[in-house]
Amino acid sequence: ESSAGATRSQLGPRMVKAALYTYVRPDPVEDNPELLAVSPLALRSIGLASTEPTKPEFLRLVSGNGGFEDISYPWAQCYGGWQFGQWAGQLGDGRAISLFEATNPETKIRYELQLKGAGQTPYSRFADGKAVLRSSIREFIVSEYLYSIGIPSTRALSLTLLPGNQAIRENIETCAIVCRFAESWIRIGTFDLLRARGDRKNLRLLSDYVREEVLKTKERVDGEDGSSGVRGDGVRNRYEDMYREIVRRNALTVAKWQAYGFMNGVLNTDNTSIMGLSLDFGPFSFMDSFNPKFTPNHDDHTLRYCYKNQPTIIWWNLVRLAEDLAELFAATPEMLDSEVGEEYKSIFLAEYKQLMATRLGFTGLRETDMDDVYSPLLDILEDAHVDFGHFFRRLSELPIFELMESDEEAQLTAAEGLMPKAVLTTVQKGPEKILKWLKLYAERLEEKEDAKRMERMKKVNPKFIPKNWVLEEIIQRVEQKGERGVLGDVIKLVENPFADRWEGVKDAERWCGDVPKLEVGMQCSCSS
Ligand code: AMP
Ligand code: MG
Ligand code: MG
Repeated sequence: ESSAGATRSQLGPRMVKAALYTYVRPDPVEDNPELLAVSPLALRSIGLASTEPTKPEFLRLVSGNGGFEDISYPWAQCYGGWQFGQWAGQLGDGRAISLFEATNPETKIRYELQLKGAGQTPYSRFADGKAVLRSSIREFIVSEYLYSIGIPSTRALSLTLLPGNQAIRENIETCAIVCRFAESWIRIGTFDLLRARGDRKNLRLLSDYVREEVLKTKERVDGEDGSSGVRGDGVRNRYEDMYREIVRRNALTVAKWQAYGFMNGVLNTDNTSIMGLSLDFGPFSFMDSFNPKFTPNHDDHTLRYCYKNQPTIIWWNLVRLAEDLAELFAATPEMLDSEVGEEYKSIFLAEYKQLMATRLGFTGLRETDMDDVYSPLLDILEDAHVDFGHFFRRLSELPIFELMESDEEAQLTAAEGLMPKAVLTTVQKGPEKILKWLKLYAERLEEKEDAKRMERMKKVNPKFIPKNWVLEEIIQRVEQKGERGVLGDVIKLVENPFADRWEGVKDAERWCGDVPKLEVGMQCSCSS
């Protein structure tokens, strides 16, 4: 990378041909990198003991200072992408470098470990290859939180501060490195790039790799003619099989995002994982006051990536993937529309309905729930400016059958308790509307007993949600005030977001409480 004495930045971006990665070395760091946080969940997933991070080798590895030389040559991946609906050409890991793959000896799951913010790569274009503390803290927390509540995501092992490095963003900011991992970092954009290059050979190689090594759809018996025997419904092309698996996984993940109010904010094809992992955390956000048209991305003026568009946009991205694969299996527009598109919709809807039912404490599904229960609820949450995430937890803590026995005044007070305090005076008839829904809800609940249902609901409705204002506070405290304990505190909540309380975390109740009035619906910019 540094041929003829030139540094990588002098070489600038490089157009790569016929390959999807480049070998590249992380920049060594001198000035005492500081391990700010380690995720205990991540240690468990990759099969490392909890004492591992205390060893000097650990810090050396996760700060990019070596330790991988004997087992691998680090690399950066190359991909392309449709960004905001436009073909953006070659992109790639501009500030992420993969170190090696490691398999958890117990689960046998293999992960690719990366350092984000470890220096420039041929895909850095004109940017610096660094990551700032602010975005690193956000990625570290949200990756682990999503995993913790059961939403597929790329993961974060550690967060390291590089005191000697600074990056110029809106201000001069301190740099950091996140060590992260995923079973695969391949995205739709990886396929997009090969199609754009007209690289048929590598498109087939990549597809075979994804089928065999990543999604393992090959395990369904392949026929000699490129077909695979599938689920008794006749013979299906093996690449179609792979495609359908990618569709299925993404349908499930986007259903989970919708049910938990998570918004990625930049759902370009380069940020859409072929494994259906939540991927690339920039201006993401969890829904505060319910608003289906909310986009967390400050620069998303057309609302392309707003909450209610997420399922449609993921499908749009999946159609780009079908086009990429055209020569491996020819999906006609009709087939995409009617067959695969319908399958996507039905997988999405089934998962969404199941999650909503579970969050509301129902023990079974009813066809009528969408129209009679969910839609009216969402309308009320929107009208009354109710916090989407907090509502479900507060509902889990409401003894509804006991309440139905009480007088109207007590019932209205309970309904008020489901709303953020600050909106009570500004919203007309909020508590009345919620109470009307609560009565209908009590009718609908199969199990007419409070205690058991409340226990069950608390296990699926997190008390802690890493909302933007909480992340912002943590960033400020670490960055400006030099606090350290605050990260350990928030990790306790991330690890166990369904708990009622967290020993020794003095900010816990506040972080789980109402979003401060001026911080509702906070947006971030793409570059954050
Ligand atoms: P994203 O918006 O995160 O999907 O990034 C789009 C492209 O810009 C990817 O190829 C990134 O690797 C690249 N990129 C973003 N920030 C940086 C940075 N600080 N240094 C180098 N490349 C970057
Ligand atoms: Mg990206
Ligand atoms: Mg990014």
